[in-house]
Amino acid sequence: MNIKRLTDIDVRGKKVFIRADLNVPQNDAGDITDDTRIRASVPAIRDALDRGAAVMLTSHLGRPTEGEWKAEDSLAPIAARLSELLGRPVPLVRDWVDGGAWVDALVPGNVVLLENCRMNKGEKKDSDELARKMAALCDVYVNDAFGTAHRAEATTHGIAKHAKEACAGPLMAAELDALGRALASPARPLVAIVAGSKVSTKLTILRSLAAKVDALIVGGGIANTFIMAAGGNIGSSLAEPELAGEAKAILDEHPGKVPVPVDAVVAKEFKETAKSTLKAIENVEPDDLILDIGPTTVAALKMIIARAGTIVWNGPVGVFEFDAFANGTREIAHAIADSKAFSIAGGGDTLAAISKFGLADRIGYISTGGGAFLEFLEGKTLPAVAALEARA
Ligand code: ADP
Ligand code: MG
Repeated sequence: MNIKRLTDIDVRGKKVFIRADLNVPQNDAGDITDDTRIRASVPAIRDALDRGAAVMLTSHLGRPTEGEWKAEDSLAPIAARLSELLGRPVPLVRDWVDGGAWVDALVPGNVVLLENCRMNKGEKKDSDELARKMAALCDVYVNDAFGTAHRAEATTHGIAKHAKEACAGPLMAAELDALGRALASPARPLVAIVAGSKVSTKLTILRSLAAKVDALIVGGGIANTFIMAAGGNIGSSLAEPELAGEAKAILDEHPGKVPVPVDAVVAKEFKETAKSTLKAIENVEPDDLILDIGPTTVAALKMIIARAGTIVWNGPVGVFEFDAFANGTREIAHAIADSKAFSIAGGGDTLAAISKFGLADRIGYISTGGGAFLEFLEGKTLPAVAALEARA
């Protein structure tokens, strides 16, 4: 892969625009529940500051409505955490696209955080007008957001075409190096675990992934869609009924490769305090919510994981945030940690689960990407990476 890196560029006295991935999980009160992505973004910022650059930094957080500022979408909690990590003030700038006083005030050694880039109209559609305006704010554009490299948006793709210089940050470079090395010729069997709640985004990539791996373990809303496809009961659980046909096709094309859960931990409501009941899939009732995989399913999956040569994991297999439904994810996480396989895990909530269970040190490589990580694995060219390659 031929891309320019931040370390290749003399940034002294220059204004450096860093697109980071600071999209951390937060609880209902807005507190950051896992700051891995913020900590992972620090080296790029430090390097640029230490070499005499003025740094403007941005990220998306959640899914704001473009053109609307809402407190819950604000990067304010991230500015506070980043300021602690960097040991210097990190002011947050709102309405920054057209530049102005804040750009003139930004001098070498200073860093500002630019408010949630997905609040800007045109960000998601990769608006060229927006990309040009943002490129005009800086001398050097740095993409250090591997987590959004699979999306062509104005801060991940368009801006790279128009900035005076464009390069990959250290995190992006490290991710591409590590994943590339691990996946070029993986030790077999290659086992992928794809779970969580982003069903439609993840399900659509499973077909090509299924062809590449030796076993595909599904969990969460994705497993529910597969249970449906296999004719089982899922009651009122999270699933994507329109994609049940796609799930059925994957099951038919790859007999035995995708184990479908046979038991589950269910509840009548989506609540921390909900009463949990273990059920075989055939006994799931119309008003049941499947919130975790059951012990028979876990035992079968652990055997597959124990035999793996390479494991890639994205998505918790249950609602691990609630203790009564955390067992499946905990058991799977421990099985991965205990296995001799080279393991790679990615995804915001997946990382939160790994740190909750204290297993971060026992996973081979922790990727900051979820969707990007899966698409890389699928063999797709990531648009943000292609944009950097075009400027090398
Ligand atoms: P990641 O961030 O790792 O890519 P996702 O965002 O796709 O993962 O999904 C994580 C979320 O999925 C977690 O908050 C978890 O509670 C939820 N989840 C897992 N299993 C279920 C389930 N059976 N029903 C509803 N939500 C689930
Ligand atoms: Mg998530």
